[in-house]
Amino acid sequence: MSIEAYPVLPLKDLVIFPKMVVPLFVGRQKSIFALEEALKHNGKIILLTQKNDKENEPKSKDLYKVGILANVLQLLKLPDGTVKILVEGTERVKINGEVEGRKYLMAFTKEFKSISNSDHELLKNSVISEFEKYVQMSEKIPTEALATILNMKSEDDICDIISSHLIIGYKEKQKILEESSLRKRLELIFETIEHEISLLKLENKIKKRVKDQMDKTQKEYFLNEQMKAIRQELDGADENGVDEVKELEEKIKNINFTKEARDKALYELKKYKNTNAMSPEAGIIRNYLDWLTSIPWGEKTEISSDLIAAMKLLDKEHYGLKEVKERIIEYLAVQQRVSKIKGSILCLVGPPGVGKTSLGKSIAKTTGRNFVRMSLGGVKDESEIRGHRRTYVGAMPGKIVQSMKKAKSSNPLFLFDEVDKLGSDWRGDPSSALLEVLDSEQNDTFSDNYLEIDYDLSDVMFVCTANSLNMPAPLLDRMEIIRIAGYTEDEKIQIAKRHLIKKQMSEKGLKKTEFSIDSSAIQEIIRYYTREAGVRGLEREISKIARKAIKQILTGEKRVPIKITKKKVEEYLGVRKLSFGQLEKKNIVGVTTGLAWTSVGGVTLQVEAVLIPGKGGISMTGQLGDVMKESVKAAEMYIKSNVKKLGIKEDVLKTKSIHVHVPEGATPKDGPSAGVTMVTSLVSALTGKAVRRDVAMTGEITLRGRVLPIGGLKEKMLAAKQVGINTVIIPKGNVKDLKEVPENIKKGLEIIPVDHISKVLENALEK
Ligand code: ADP
Repeated sequence: MSIEAYPVLPLKDLVIFPKMVVPLFVGRQKSIFALEEALKHNGKIILLTQKNDKENEPKSKDLYKVGILANVLQLLKLPDGTVKILVEGTERVKINGEVEGRKYLMAFTKEFKSISNSDHELLKNSVISEFEKYVQMSEKIPTEALATILNMKSEDDICDIISSHLIIGYKEKQKILEESSLRKRLELIFETIEHEISLLKLENKIKKRVKDQMDKTQKEYFLNEQMKAIRQELDGADENGVDEVKELEEKIKNINFTKEARDKALYELKKYKNTNAMSPEAGIIRNYLDWLTSIPWGEKTEISSDLIAAMKLLDKEHYGLKEVKERIIEYLAVQQRVSKIKGSILCLVGPPGVGKTSLGKSIAKTTGRNFVRMSLGGVKDESEIRGHRRTYVGAMPGKIVQSMKKAKSSNPLFLFDEVDKLGSDWRGDPSSALLEVLDSEQNDTFSDNYLEIDYDLSDVMFVCTANSLNMPAPLLDRMEIIRIAGYTEDEKIQIAKRHLIKKQMSEKGLKKTEFSIDSSAIQEIIRYYTREAGVRGLEREISKIARKAIKQILTGEKRVPIKITKKKVEEYLGVRKLSFGQLEKKNIVGVTTGLAWTSVGGVTLQVEAVLIPGKGGISMTGQLGDVMKESVKAAEMYIKSNVKKLGIKEDVLKTKSIHVHVPEGATPKDGPSAGVTMVTSLVSALTGKAVRRDVAMTGEITLRGRVLPIGGLKEKMLAAKQVGINTVIIPKGNVKDLKEVPENIKKGLEIIPVDHISKVLENALEK
C-alpha cells in the first residue's frame, strides 16, 4: 500500500480493531465534515483514538499515531443533527503526516503490518486457551467469539478479535493495537487476559463468599423450620416448645414468688422464648429457670408448738441427755414467743456418735419442720456456700440454695454439721458467708451468686453441730452452745437396749422371737470392742452381729432363737480388740494418769518419766504439742526452784537427766491441762516415790505451783470412770462445773479439788 491521504474521524474512549463492524454516533461538526468528505470518494476514513477522552476539539497532536483504516458502510442522519454510521475496520495504519484543514483533518497513512520472524503456534495456543477460560468466567463475552477464533488462521487476526472482546480500558487496547512485533502482541494479550482472570477469580471468590454466607443462613433457617415441624409431629409442641414455655409460665404463675423473683422469672422466660432452642444460651436460661422454680418460695409447713409433745418425743427417741433435752425445750419455748426465728442459733457440741444429728432430726419432727442437713466439713470456698455466677460454665447455686431445694419448704430445720471443720483459704472465707446465713438480721435477703436475687432464709430454723468449740469467735458469738459430753457405760447399755438393737433388728428384718442380745453381751462389746464417747461404734458392732445372725438363720446354720450372751460375742465379733481398765497392776515410779480432752471426747493419758545418767536437762518423746512442751518446761522450773521442799537430793539433778514420754504417739496431744500430771511424774521419778495407780488428775500449773482451772471437766471425768479410776484430782476453779456433771458419773468417784501442786503430790504420791 502506497502512501495515501484520508479524512480522520477521532474516537473518544474507544479503540477499534480490524475486522470489527461497529456502529458509531457522530456529533462533532468536524467529524461530520470528515465523513462527508470520505463518502465523496470511496467511503474510506481513518479512525484514530484521542489520547485524552475529555478533549472536544482534538488537534492532530491529541491523537494516537496508530489507527485503523475503515469503510463507512452506512450513514444515517438523525433528526437532532447527529449522524449514526456503521463502520468496518479493514487494516492497521500508521500516520505519516497530517494536514490540519479548516473543516476536518486529513492524514497520510503508512502500512502497519506485524513483524513475525518465528513460529508462534505455542504462544497462540496458550493465548486461545487462556481466552477460553476468560470467556467461561466472564459471562459477558459471547461464546461465538471463541468459535470465530478457532477457525482463524492468521495470528494477527486472532490478536485483533481477542483484543476487541477484552473488557479493558482504551489505553490498554491502544497499546495492543500499536505493538508491531507479533510475538510481543501475543504476549501482551496473554498477560492482559491472565491479569483479568485473576481479577475475575477474586471477584468470584467474593461473590461466592457472600453467597455461601447467605446459603448458610438459609440452611439454618430451613433446618430450624424442619426441626420445629418434626417436634410438632412428635409431641405436638412448638419451638422452645410453646407448650414448654406455657408450662413454665403456668409454673411461675402458681409460685408464691417475691416481687423481685417474679420479675426476674418473667424476664428470663421472655429471653428464653426469643432464644434459639438449640443454642447453649437457651440451655443456660432453662437451667436457671428450673432452679428458680424448684426452690421453695414461701411454702411453709405448719409449725407445731406443743412443748409437751416435743418433750415426749425427745424422751422417746433419746435415752438420757436430761439437761440437753431441757435446754432444747427452753430454746423452743423462747422461739414460740417470737414470730420469726430470732436470736442465737442452737449449737450441739460433743464427740461423734452422741446423737447430735439425731437430736436435730427429732427437733425437726416435733416442730413439724422438714429436715435438711449440710456438712461444712472441708468447705473452704465461699462459692460452695454462695454459688458461682451464671457466666461460669456449669454454674450452680451454692449449697445453701441446693439444700433448700431438698428441704422442699421455706421453713425447714437446717442442720449445719461440723461447723468447727469449716476451712478457709485464698478463695475466700466461707465463715463470713455462713455468718450472714445465720444472722437473723440479714438472712431474709441472702444473696446467692447464681440466683442473683435475694432469697429469704428468715423462716429457717438453723441448728449447728460441732465436735469442739474451735471456731471463729464471731460464729461462736451467735451460738447457744449445748454440750453433750458422752455416755457412761450404763447409759450406753440402756441406749443399746432401748434404741440401737431395735433399730438394727428392724433394719435387718430380724423378729423379736428370733434374736436378742443381753446386757452382759452389750457390756462386753462396750468394754472390749469399742472405745468412744458416743455410741456409733457400738451401733456398728451390733449391726455386725445382727447381719451374721440373719445369715445364720436364713442358711439354717443356727436354730432360732439366737441369744447373744457375753460368751458368744467373740464368736460374732472375733477376739477382743481392746483391753479394759488400763490401770496398772501396781503403783509405779514416774507413771501418772492424766486426763485430756480431745474432739472425740475425754481420754486418759499416761505420762512416764524416767531418770537416765546425764547432766540434768529434760528430753521428750510422744508427739507433744507446743503447749504441752511448755507444760514440761514449767514443771521443770517449778521443781528446780523447790528442790528442798520436794525432798529431792541435790546430786540427783547433777548426775541424771530426765526423759518424758507420753505413749500412744500416733495421737497428737496438746493443751495446758497436763501441767499437774507432768510435775507429778517428774517429782515421782526424782524422789523415787511411786504414783498411786487409781488416781487421775487434770490442771494447768503456774511457775509458782498454783493449779489453774481447765475445760471439758465432764468429758474428762467420764473418761476416768471408764478406765476404773476412783480418785480424781481437779482444780479448785472447776468446782463450779461439778454441778453439770451427771450424778451417775460422780457416783463412786472421790473428787479432790486443789489449788496448789503440793496438794496434788500429797494425794497422788505413795506415802
Ligand atoms: P452425732 O451426730 O453426734 O455424731 P448421731 O446423731 O449420728 O451422732 O448418732 C449416732 C447414732 O447413735 C444414731 O443412730 C443415734 O440415733 C444414736 N444415739 C446417740 N445417742 C442416743 C441416745 N441418747 N438415745 C438413743 N440413740 C442415740
